Amino acid sequence: MFHVGMLIPCYAPTRLTASVVALCLLTQVAGAAGDWVEVEQRGVVEVRSEFAMDQAEWDNMFRELNGLQADLEGLLHLRPSNQIIEINLFRTKSSYQEFLRARVPEGVTRKALYVPGTDRGRVYVYRHWGYETDLRHEFTHALLHSSLPFVPMWLDEGFAEYFEVQANQRSHHNPHLGELKRRLLFGWGPNLANLEGKSDLSQMDGADYRECWAWVHFMMHGPDEVRQVLANYLHNVEQGNPAGQLGDHLRESIDLDAQLLRHFRQWK
Ligand SMILES: [Zn+2]
Repeated sequence: MFHVGMLIPCYAPTRLTASVVALCLLTQVAGAAGDWVEVEQRGVVEVRSEFAMDQAEWDNMFRELNGLQADLEGLLHLRPSNQIIEINLFRTKSSYQEFLRARVPEGVTRKALYVPGTDRGRVYVYRHWGYETDLRHEFTHALLHSSLPFVPMWLDEGFAEYFEVQANQRSHHNPHLGELKRRLLFGWGPNLANLEGKSDLSQMDGADYRECWAWVHFMMHGPDEVRQVLANYLHNVEQGNPAGQLGDHLRESIDLDAQLLRHFRQWK
């Protein structure tokens, strides 16, 4: 898939404006990039931070990340992985870019990213308004790739979009939901085959990300048989069995597009 082994950057156009504004507020004097003031590991998550956080902030961060891991592994019936996921938090965008320039130069222009590794997965995020969303997004990629040998790009991004909001917002308060329901009023329809045909993030736009999220939301909250198809598919991927295309299995199971549309028309 899309050059895993390289990087999985984040594309989040709706958050860019806020990020740029917040950057102006960050006036700390920069030290050397990667000059961690604190490093802490809990479970498989190791956080390295260029900026100080008090105990409550550390506790909150680990509670959320460890909680996301437990939720994802539980909901998707994944075998927990022992691979360390290293979270690198930078105090500014410039520090983040300086650090990446020496190590992952192709990721410098990205807002946040996950880089798989044979030793550990690595997430890179810089502090800005709402950076926790980017962190949850990239962390989701890291969790999926530490448990599964591969994940189709559309599904990978769909899960990342689904889990990037706080846990209590996943089902009813993801910003994608309102936009999708507006588009439904104007006749929007899904096209999973189109998403399945994309192999590079450069082929994906905001509408594609929203549809990836929609398919995941449908599988997480829709009919039981759809959840079962997803579980079977992920089990086969995890076991190294021939898994085929998830979209094909879904289409064999139900009247797919009609069910997705019904799901969102009825979802409040
Ligand atoms: Zn992503």
